[in-house]
Amino acid sequence: MQTASGFIDIHSHAAATKGLCIRSFDTRDFSTDSAISGFYSLGLHPWFIERQDSQQAMGKIASAMADPNLLAIGECGLDKLQSTSLPKQIEVFKQQIQLAERCQKPLIIHCVRAFNELLQLKNSSTIQVPWIIHGFNNKPAVAESLLKQGFYLSMGKALLIPQSNAAKTLQGMPLQQLFLETDAAEDILISEIYAAAAKIVGMEMQDLQQQIFHNFKRVFLHD
Ligand SMILES: [Zn+2]
Repeated sequence: MQTASGFIDIHSHAAATKGLCIRSFDTRDFSTDSAISGFYSLGLHPWFIERQDSQQAMGKIASAMADPNLLAIGECGLDKLQSTSLPKQIEVFKQQIQLAERCQKPLIIHCVRAFNELLQLKNSSTIQVPWIIHGFNNKPAVAESLLKQGFYLSMGKALLIPQSNAAKTLQGMPLQQLFLETDAAEDILISEIYAAAAKIVGMEMQDLQQQIFHNFKRVFLHD
């Protein structure tokens, strides 16, 4: 296990990554004999529901569950800008929530304009695994409701914009519930996201690295 001096990227779509990183795969491009090295997550993204058979997709996730390199289920979630109906999205999301609970791995969640539905889903469930919202860049008030319900927030390139909602949220949130990521940004290094975050919270880089490392061990490695 890498030491606390490294940068941990919990959500990346990059083809090649350096350091401690969780690469995110969608079920439609995944087969159990895909040669994947390193940590990854697997899920059926709400953008791709219409492009695959969801039962087959769940089967792929279920067969990957025993792989120790599979660190999370997702990204999965809800997106109201998509044409797939919300009930269908909720159904597919719920199936993945059940799979995550079955293998005791956290959920990496994509959520666009559906935070009320997401809060309701979590409130009405007895699921124990952590729920991590990736790419969070919403109002601090939304963050507050989510954090109170135990969600984790993962932030990325929005932190490079000092006036962004992500930056404002980060100023006042408990850092035990924070993760950092590069997501689909090919031109941004995870170290730049860390530097921006450290500046926003007024922390030494090393202390921030230590904090995220502890969060990572607790949430992804059950340590
Ligand atoms: Zn993503």
